[in-house]
Amino acid sequence: MATENDVDVVIVGAGGGGLVAALAAADRGASVVVLEKLNEAGGNTGLSTGSIPGGGSAQQKAAGVNDDPERMFTDLMRQSGPHEAEHLTRRLAETSGALVDWLVDKHHVRLKLILDYKHVGHSVNRLHAPASRRGGDLVADLLAACEKAGVDVILGNPVAGLIVEDGVVRGVKVEGERIEPYELRAGAVILAANGFAANRDLVTRWAPELASLEYFGAHGSTGEAIEWGLQVGGHLKNAAAFQGYAAVAYPHGSILSWTTVEKGGVLIDSTGSRMGDEIVGYSGFTTEVTGGQQPIWALYDTRIRDITLREDEYRELVEMGGAKECADDQEVAQVTGVPLDALRDTLEQYASASRGDRPDQHGRTDFGAEPLRPPYVVSRVTPGLFHTQGGLDVDTEGRVLRGDGSEVPGLFAVGGVAAGVSGQTGGRGYSSGNGLLTAVGLGQLAGDAAADFVGSGD
Ligand SMILES: Cc1cc2nc3c(=O)[nH]c(=O)nc-3n(C[C@H](O)[C@H](O)[C@H](O)COP(=O)(O)OP(=O)(O)OC[C@H]3O[C@@H](n4cnc5c(N)ncnc54)[C@H](O)[C@@H]3O)c2cc1C
Repeated sequence: MATENDVDVVIVGAGGGGLVAALAAADRGASVVVLEKLNEAGGNTGLSTGSIPGGGSAQQKAAGVNDDPERMFTDLMRQSGPHEAEHLTRRLAETSGALVDWLVDKHHVRLKLILDYKHVGHSVNRLHAPASRRGGDLVADLLAACEKAGVDVILGNPVAGLIVEDGVVRGVKVEGERIEPYELRAGAVILAANGFAANRDLVTRWAPELASLEYFGAHGSTGEAIEWGLQVGGHLKNAAAFQGYAAVAYPHGSILSWTTVEKGGVLIDSTGSRMGDEIVGYSGFTTEVTGGQQPIWALYDTRIRDITLREDEYRELVEMGGAKECADDQEVAQVTGVPLDALRDTLEQYASASRGDRPDQHGRTDFGAEPLRPPYVVSRVTPGLFHTQGGLDVDTEGRVLRGDGSEVPGLFAVGGVAAGVSGQTGGRGYSSGNGLLTAVGLGQLAGDAAADFVGSGD
């Protein structure tokens, strides 16, 4: 450890990216402090379903799933299209299987390969999540692992800026309402403070097309860490890409599981019309739903409801009255206020496309298991912004880069602070798990590299 430093590595933000970076740096022998501005850890990671893609994981092999980094890279690129951080897609696909194995085997994080569905962008079962599909459980396991590894996670300590000397990042300044301001000097700083979706000014400046979307993520995502990176010469990549969600349950604010759509459900607006091909994914479909006439409804059937009831969050939504069973199309029209004729027309067209009698009017080709049939189920939904996917340009190990490609010495960025791998702009490029992939995947790589940078690596 360098003698003038208080700690080898300081990490800003105790979400998935920060906690995994901490574990990786501690594994390499570095002393690590994680500073969290809120009074609880978790951030957006705690609100997520905790689903992390791992291409070529041990659990996939045990389940006979044929996957590898090349296949994962191809899948993610097919969904995202070309973008400004393809080196990250490549690197994260290469390391994701071993990342999941490392979290499970070394740090006892309880992640299970999801076999019920593949979700958006993945050609094989590749997502690994807590059995509950709750990010809060992932955060709890990561905090327990950090405690075991001797990592200090300090809550209620907002970082207000970087200490920079002669262009080298030397630590952070901490300032909060209930604490005396102080400085923490470190050999390396990892920014893991997430994106800027909770900061309307930054959204308007960097990704104005998102300004009309209501934000449903954690309120700590205010983007200040990205601004510090820009102040020391960093620059943005994929700035206007985002993860949206086409079907946030209204007024509950929780996710209406996309399983309801993947198994054959549709989204209709107040005119009774579908708004496009839902199978572009829950993020990509956000834009179409934004253009629909409110209120928006998810329409599926009791067979799909019963399959989805395996998911805790959906079960809770049903218990809260967020999924109303309707005996027939007439009751659907009554409950939703949608004109019956238009509804019948939509259902008839969709049924004939799903039977293969004619092409779907919106080009949908995957209709789930069977055509929709009564009794139906309806859930009121609204589109939302979950997570910005643009951020600082970083290299494959999370080192922050200037516009000329040189590194900002001592500064790393992961997760929502760093450029995402979900396309250059818009919500269509998002594959399920991309948010946590850049958080925990880049977290592991940056934790390793930061430990090396301070000379405490093995
Ligand atoms: C409802 C929902 C569901 C989702 N589901 C999934 C999913 O299943 N899979 C997936 O891959 N992605 C999912 N996402 C996206 C995913 O949650 C995020 O991409 C990911 O959690 C980002 O991790 P992070 O570590 O970068 O940020 P976070 O988990 O948000 O952690 C950042 C932390 O930094 C703290 N912080 C911010 N500023 C400061 C500061 N100045 N000083 C100190 N601390 C600071 C914040 O308070 C926060 O605790 C979902 C998002 C939402 C909203």
